Amino acid sequence: MTEDAFRHADGFNWMAVSWGGPDEPRTGTCSYCDAELRDGGMPLVLWNAEGWCAEFCEACQRKWWGLQCESYDDGREDGDIPDFLPENPSPPEN
Ligand SMILES: [Zn+2]
Repeated sequence: MTEDAFRHADGFNWMAVSWGGPDEPRTGTCSYCDAELRDGGMPLVLWNAEGWCAEFCEACQRKWWGLQCESYDDGREDGDIPDFLPENPSPPEN
């Protein structure tokens, strides 16, 4: 078996991927659909053997690679309780 465990969806077109050269700075846009990569997002970055890389936005990750980006990281881990809780203001009296 040599089948890749990591497969793209049917219809994916490698020719539509704009690869960045090994010496080029990282791109700020999706290499497939040209969408702006979200600040703080998690682009999928692929490198080929020659060091060229392509970055995929979250929509393309979902569409073509079946990846779910459901964790919009707020810096806390699940179940992590902050050290202080803001006091709830009492409801205004009428
Ligand atoms: Zn994209």
